[in-house]
Amino acid sequence: MIFEKVHAVYDENGRRSLVSTGEPDEFIEADDVIIAIGQENAFPWIERDLGIEFGKWEIPVLDKVSFQSTNPKVFFGGDSAFGPKNVITAVAHGHQAAISIDLFCQGDSVHNRPAPFTNLVSQKMGIHEWAYDSFVTNDVRFQVPHADKYVSLKDRKMEVELGFDQPTGFKEAQRCLNCDVQTVFYTSRCIECDACVDICPTSCITFTDNGEEQELRLKLSAPALNVEQDLYVSDTLPTSRVMVKDEDVCLHCGLCAERCPTAAWDMQQFLYSVTKAGNPCSILQEPMTL
Ligand code: SF4
Ligand code: SF4
Repeated sequence: MIFEKVHAVYDENGRRSLVSTGEPDEFIEADDVIIAIGQENAFPWIERDLGIEFGKWEIPVLDKVSFQSTNPKVFFGGDSAFGPKNVITAVAHGHQAAISIDLFCQGDSVHNRPAPFTNLVSQKMGIHEWAYDSFVTNDVRFQVPHADKYVSLKDRKMEVELGFDQPTGFKEAQRCLNCDVQTVFYTSRCIECDACVDICPTSCITFTDNGEEQELRLKLSAPALNVEQDLYVSDTLPTSRVMVKDEDVCLHCGLCAERCPTAAWDMQQFLYSVTKAGNPCSILQEPMTL
């Protein structure tokens, strides 16, 4: 197979183009060649006098929030909106475009968008009982077993990933970091016993005097060097100190909440429900989670 040598060139919007380096083509010997192709949007079927403007890459010019094109009656979503992404993004586009279409049909501004529903629900069920499994595991990611490649290469309809057996699937699920379960701190309940500081396996809780962010970051039990991650700083406690938590290294293990004698720490599950078009009460139909 002959390959042309290229290098990546980025335009002012960060879009990448592959441009020939001018070097000689390269020949690589192969028994079999499997061609994996990408996809591109193609809209030759849309008449260019409809008021829908197309950009440099022949994709429609859209409002990034409402998905409305330059013809206000036409909305785009999925790969047709901003180029190939994934199915999850396409579903999210669908929700947002549906909200825009509904607002547009009602004569409202497509930028006057209803907020999504969010909620935090305590996971505490008893003194040492939680509605989620916070067991800490040191297992590394388990490999999904694959079908024999000599067989699967000859049969393109064959399922390559065979999936976990039940015991391995259970172990893999135990690696979940429970990112949806958050630590929530109640300043008024804290008696400043420092027990949570002792138990935290990643030293992400510090009780200290308040100060400028840069100074605070360096005097925590473990310095918080990732400035892209905000610190959580509590209200002032009775001893004039504050509780500072570096979320960047929190494992969501719940040990602080387990150890706290006054329930000043709680583990609460975050619920996000995307706004549904046309029915402001739709959130009431969502199943409740504990
Ligand atoms: S959840 Fe675990 S890692 Fe996070 S602050 Fe509490 S004890 Fe530390
Ligand atoms: S364990 Fe509870 S009461 Fe003690 S310092 Fe931590 S949050 Fe405050």
